[in-house]
Amino acid sequence: MHIDLHTHTTASDGVLAPRELVALAERRGVRILSITDHDTVAAYAELEGLQTDLRLVPGIEFSTQWQRTEIHVVGLGIRLDDPALNRGIEMQQRSREQRTERIAAKLEKLGLPDPLPAVQAIAGTRAAGRPHFARHLVDTGKVADMGQAFKKYLAVGKPGYCRPEWAPLDEVIAWIQGAGGTAVLAHPAHYNLTRTRLAKLVTAFQEAGGNAMEVVSGVQAPGVTTSLARLCTKHGLLASCGSDFHQARPGGAQPGGYDAIPPSCTPIWHDWGIEGPQ
Ligand code: MN
Ligand code: MN
Ligand code: MN
Repeated sequence: MHIDLHTHTTASDGVLAPRELVALAERRGVRILSITDHDTVAAYAELEGLQTDLRLVPGIEFSTQWQRTEIHVVGLGIRLDDPALNRGIEMQQRSREQRTERIAAKLEKLGLPDPLPAVQAIAGTRAAGRPHFARHLVDTGKVADMGQAFKKYLAVGKPGYCRPEWAPLDEVIAWIQGAGGTAVLAHPAHYNLTRTRLAKLVTAFQEAGGNAMEVVSGVQAPGVTTSLARLCTKHGLLASCGSDFHQARPGGAQPGGYDAIPPSCTPIWHDWGIEGPQ
């Protein structure tokens, strides 16, 4: 595909700096790219003044809450300086920090002395989160590896786990649309929902004013694409696609490296004035 509408950089949990990601996408033949970091648009400031033929669509990936499930919503074509959008981003970042503090308090009670400074040092300029706690648990010899850290402490239901508190679906959609953007339900097949609950989610998303859903998210089985395409057209949503690229890994999608959206769907770019092969 020449269009990739879901990628990450070092502004959140990706490994490539924004300019490195753009260069990789260009090399791979991507012509339209959106960088959609988690609850931040900081990558775009780093791209100011960059000369590129690639068309950049300003984007973000918000975490939200729907019926106790964490759901991600991508915003595309947003005005990056929109005040309400930026207030929303600040709220989300505060929620993330508060969760980090709650996890630290729990781990401290479990015998890990004052973990916060070390965890923040590991995270560096990024928002500290569970992977950084996992690293610290390994560094202090509490567990043998990162996987163990999650299994013993940090995964859902384990003693160091804290539920994140994100803005509800309709609020996040309002931030995106208020900034002139299009709200896209991200990677619907990744929430481990039953078929019935997934249909409920798509209905709720559409009723909350959502515009589109990712029918193709990275490397995915053809059967999954077919059923997502059906859900998408049934609910009158536009279809989006993206690699959800964080870093190169075996079996993972590179920028632009995934199947095309089935022709039964209306692609999100249908009125973006794009011609030729996609
Ligand atoms: Mn991520
Ligand atoms: Mn996501
Ligand atoms: Mn993502």
